[in-house]
Order: sequence, then C-alpha cells, then structure tokens
Amino acid sequence: MAFESDSPLDTLWKEYGRVFADFDDLTLARWLAQTLGQLEGKSWRLSHPLVGAYRLAAQIGNDRSIWHKRLATPPAAYAESPCCRAPFLPLLTRDIRESGLICQHCNETLVPFDEIPADLRGEVEAWAKLYEPIHAVAHWDDRQRRHAGGNYDAAYETAAQEAEKLLIKAGAELAPKLLNHYAAAVWEDQDECLEVRPEDVGL
Ligand SMILES: [Zn+2]
Repeated sequence: MAFESDSPLDTLWKEYGRVFADFDDLTLARWLAQTLGQLEGKSWRLSHPLVGAYRLAAQIGNDRSIWHKRLATPPAAYAESPCCRAPFLPLLTRDIRESGLICQHCNETLVPFDEIPADLRGEVEAWAKLYEPIHAVAHWDDRQRRHAGGNYDAAYETAAQEAEKLLIKAGAELAPKLLNHYAAAVWEDQDECLEVRPEDVGL
C-alpha cells in the first residue's frame, strides 16, 4: 500500500481515496481527529480497513497541511509528530533498523531507530535482525539461488513460513509494547516479497 507507485493496487487505493478529497478541510480535520479517538489504545494491523481509510485521509490531510491549520483537536493522548506536526501514529515494519518507526501521515521517519525507547529497542532490534536474512531470500540473485542446491522454491517457501512467524510475533508481542510509549500503533502484517498475506498472519 505505497501510495506513490502506479501499480494496479495503488491506482485502486487512489480511487478509494477520492472520497476524502471531496471533504472540505474542516470536515477532513474532524474526521481524522474523531478516528484517532477510535484508534487510541490499540495496536492495529496495517491491513485493517479502518487503518487503510485513516491512511488515505491522513495523506490528503498532509497534502493540505491540515494539522498546521489547527481546525480540530486530536485526542490529548497523541503527542505532536516532529516530522509534520500531525498526531503521533507510528508504523512498525521489518525495515525498522534502517527507517525507524514511520509516520502514518507523511511517510517520513517518525522515530529514528536510535531514539526508540531503550526498553523496546533491544527487542525490536533482535526481531529485525532475525527477519532481515529471511526477507533477503526473496531477493537472492542467481548465484545465491544456485547455492541453494537448485531448490530455490523450497528455500523461498521456508523463508515465507519463517516470515509468517516473525510477523505474528510483531503483532502479538512487539506492537502492543509500543502502546507503553504511544497512544496507538500500526504494524505491517504482510511481506509482499515473500507473498505472505495478512490472512496468513493469524494472531
Ligand atoms: Zn509525519
């Protein structure tokens, strides 16, 4: 669900997002603030329809600098993001060591890896270090595939199964711990390169 590309799925999401483009600024700001109230206190799958709708609205709000206009007051539990002044809504992904926690409003780094609270960082780092070589199987070059003894399909399938387990850990253990520091959190519940879908990641 990267909104910038022109894949058929992203084109479809752009079509979905038009409903929010028709909102005026005040209506959009109120919708965002109210929905943050409903997101508060839980960790959410990236694939959850409410999160998907929120992300579409948030992106249009970001394009219109809606949080700079102070048209609606978000719930008090949300801090202000340093990147774009939107309420603090972090996304946990497998790229956390490189990208940190990602802002759901502007898609920039919201919390650099080194600034993740220490009690959480060690556990997230260990998880990401396990995940990185597993995810890399999807991007092996020909030489690496040959090293797999001519059985790349089996290596890929094993990696997909390992990724499923790690995504379950992210959703069941890591994302809830983000709530010790943030009002709400989102976690990526798929691995498109290994063809692990949200419905494969059962909590
Ligand atoms: Zn931001």
